[in-house]
Parts: sequence; structure tokens; C-alpha cells
Amino acid sequence: MSSSTRRRELGRGERVLPGLWRLRLPLPWPGVPHCNAWAVAAGDGVVLVDCGLHEPGSLAHLERAMAQCDLRLEHVRLLVCTHAHSDHYGQAASVIDASGCELWMHPDHAHMRATVDNPDEVRARRFEVALQSGVPIEPLRQWSAGARSRASGIARLVEPDRDLVQGVVVDTDLGPWSVVHTPGHAPSHVCLHQPDRRLLISGDHLLGRVSLYFDYGWTVDPVGEFLTSLDKAAALDARLCLAGHARTFADVAAHIEANRALVAQRLETVRGAVAEHGPITAYDVVPLLYGQGLTQLTAGWWLPETLCYLRRLEVVGAVRRAGEEPERWVAA
Ligand SMILES: [Zn+2]
Ligand SMILES: [Zn+2]
Repeated sequence: MSSSTRRRELGRGERVLPGLWRLRLPLPWPGVPHCNAWAVAAGDGVVLVDCGLHEPGSLAHLERAMAQCDLRLEHVRLLVCTHAHSDHYGQAASVIDASGCELWMHPDHAHMRATVDNPDEVRARRFEVALQSGVPIEPLRQWSAGARSRASGIARLVEPDRDLVQGVVVDTDLGPWSVVHTPGHAPSHVCLHQPDRRLLISGDHLLGRVSLYFDYGWTVDPVGEFLTSLDKAAALDARLCLAGHARTFADVAAHIEANRALVAQRLETVRGAVAEHGPITAYDVVPLLYGQGLTQLTAGWWLPETLCYLRRLEVVGAVRRAGEEPERWVAA
């Protein structure tokens, strides 16, 4: 169904455990119908973890979801964001305006700040990277024009009151949650771990259905960082994951393993594609990796992901750049 005929969900709230609620918030994105915020009881209010995307009417969905749990925005004592993507951080300014709470978030959020401060510059950079990666000028111009009309999903840029770095503790009625820095999906990504109850608020680091996305161009090796972050999550031995999208899930170790397996499989496919077809552009690797070429819908996801695999393989010495324009890759 197209987005115009698809019936939009409403915000919905449900209790997961005593003192812990899932707030399910609709998203306007095809294939990603909603995201989760989590409310955790803390004294006379709640700690809110993530807050959904900002668009006209979006705050009413959060309020509706909270109301179903007998909560109101004024109950938010602290807002914690697992990472600075619009579906997790977009409404931060609105929540802060309504509640007067503090915001805690990891300081490596330049990837988000740039899209709010300098959207034209970010688009120009993406255009340049796509061109460099072998995407033909048409359809690139067309895709780029489409991207210009899309809103950022962020109400207003708010800087965190406190840096949510490894080891910081968030106190709640369910006990303290430790911050674990888990970059890869985004440089600013953290998980929150409650060791006594073996709970993990995993953001987009671990999802119920394995789905890989990497922010390209902000750190040296996002795929390598993601794999290290999977090791960190595995060491926590959590029994229940409260993820950024869809339902909670229990077999955390199996999900971590499934992520490792998919990354390994995709790296091997990219390595094989370069060995067989190199010198090859990232654009030409895409159909060999996903079974279909880029479209307007997938360009912003699959191209950076492919570039991140090529970068990972370059870091481990399996491929190298052949130094042509556009950039082509060969086996090292
Ligand atoms: Zn994300
Ligand atoms: Zn997300």
C-alpha cells in the first residue's frame, strides 16, 4: 500500500513489567511502521528513553500512548536518547518544553547536528559520495531532489545536559541502568543495561528482526565498531531486550549471533563481488549484495551500508581502492 492509502497507526502504550511501559509511536516510513519509547518509573515520575520522530501531530501520539499508561508528559523527569536518529530523538525539544526535564545523550551526535544545522551541506556531501561511488548523475539528481523535500523529523536541535558515556548510571525504581556505548548503527548509540533484572534497552543496536543500518562517513569503520559493540552486548548476558522497534524479545544471545552471521555473510558477498568483478564501484556491488539495484527508496540505506562493508574489508586488508573516478575497488 502506498503511504497515502496506508492507515496510519496511533500512539499506543502498554505495561511490559511493573514500572516499565512500552510507548509505540507511528512512523511515516515505508516498511518501518513504528518506533518505541520506553517509560521507566523513577520516584514521582518517569525516565523516558527515546521519544519518537517529530512531524505535525506527532506529540499527540506520544501523549496518547502515555495516557494509556496513566502517564503524562509532565511526569517525565529525565529524557535519555539511545542515539541521535530522528525516530529516537526527533521530539526531544517538545518533551523538554512540556516537562522541563534534562536530556542525556552520547556526545558523538555530530551526524544528527549536521542534518539540522546544515541540511544543504549534508545533502551536497551525500550527492558527492554517491557520485564518487559510481551512481549515474541521472537518477542521482532526481533522488536528490526528492530528499530535499523531506523534513528532518527533528523538532529543534537541543544539546544534551549530560554526556551519556560508558559507565554513566541512570537511576530508576527498577534499579540503576548502566550506559554501554555501542557505536556502529550510529556513532552516538548507547544501550542501557539493568544487571539485576538482566534487561537491555537496546535501541537500534539489537532489533527483534535483524536489520542492519550504518551511518557512513562519521567514524573510521562503522561495521568494525558494530561488531565490537555486539561483543559488548553479548558480555552483558541480558535476558530481555527492549528494542527501538517492534516487540521485546528474550533470546538475546541468538539475536546477537544472527547479527554477527548476517554481517559476516554480507562482508563475504562484497569480498567475493570485488574479487570476481573488480575493479568495481560500490554502485555496481549493490545488486550483487541485495539482488537488486538502488532506487530512490533504498539509496540512502544500501549505498552507505555497502560503503561501510567495503571500508571494513579495506581495514582488514581484503580490498583496496584502485584510485579511479568514480572510485573502483579491487582485491588487495
Ligand atoms: Zn537508528
Ligand atoms: Zn530507529
